[in-house]
Amino acid sequence: MERSAAMARVGFIGLGNMGGGMAANLAKAGHDVRAFDLSEDALARAKAAGCLPVASAAEAAQGAEAVITMLPAGKHVEQVYADSVFGAADTGAILIDCSTIDVDTARRVADAAASKGLMAVDAPVSGGIAAASAGTLTFMVGGSDAAFERAELFLSDMGKAVIHAGGNGAGQAAKICNNMLLGATMVATCEAFLLARKLGLDPQTFYDISSVSSGQSWSMTSYAPLPGVGPKSPADNDYQGGFAAALMLKDLKLAMEAAETVHADTPMGARAAELYAKFADEGHSGMDFSGIITMLEARDRN
Ligand code: NAD
Repeated sequence: MERSAAMARVGFIGLGNMGGGMAANLAKAGHDVRAFDLSEDALARAKAAGCLPVASAAEAAQGAEAVITMLPAGKHVEQVYADSVFGAADTGAILIDCSTIDVDTARRVADAAASKGLMAVDAPVSGGIAAASAGTLTFMVGGSDAAFERAELFLSDMGKAVIHAGGNGAGQAAKICNNMLLGATMVATCEAFLLARKLGLDPQTFYDISSVSSGQSWSMTSYAPLPGVGPKSPADNDYQGGFAAALMLKDLKLAMEAAETVHADTPMGARAAELYAKFADEGHSGMDFSGIITMLEARDRN
């Protein structure tokens, strides 16, 4: 495990499904966590977890050595930074945005921070709500070497791995490329299971073969989309819990936007984005993303 910071004052803004657990882990590690969210419930949960609830994002940022945000999307981060954080944070504070947002906004807010004399990194996470609570997230960090060193001290209290991906925006780039690959391999894994079954193969037998052959991927080996096959996964729980299809769709859309910006051809990502949009339209946004197998199965000609 990486080094962690001595007890420090940390501002934490955005105490939802992910941020709530992360702020609690910083408090558990001994930091003085000044926590803010628009939701009273979220503030009450943060208090119960050992944080000090404060009345505004600016108050969270004041006097903090690190200001951490875990917000829904780029527009929230940009707004909270511009309206509250930039005016309140001490010079020398490190701004760490752990939200999943678009690469362009991540770079823009980092430039804006630099113009105010503040260091900033993008540090999106891999791992869901359970990993946020358990402190076992993986952080992909974009920023200068000096900013990374500062951020790592705090991130290591919330995760099992903190990886320097490159300059500002590189953390977000790594996150959306990883999740585009995950979306595409999940769809491909689902269709392979369905075709194998139609060809008369037992799904467990197909798993035993493919999980040690060249079709292997995380979607197959660790997260097989059929109940009773492979290690326990959301498929064994009626596709509840896990990583919601809505969040996969969000990440695929971010990947498609980024691909457009740099004129990259991403046909498999684009197809995965279309299929997850359809799955969400059919009312399954809250289902685990491996549940897309149920839509593909229903579309199969019998
Ligand atoms: P969430 O909706 O549960 O939490 C977001 C929180 O931000 C809410 O509590 C909301 O009240 C608060 N908020 C919004 N605007 C605010 C503002 N102006 N000031 C203060 N608080 C504000 O979302 P989440 O599931 O915790 O996800 C947060 C981020 O993490 C997203 O960018 C998401 O894509 C990413 N992420 C989520 C998961 C997951 O499994 N949930 C996994 C990886 C990454």
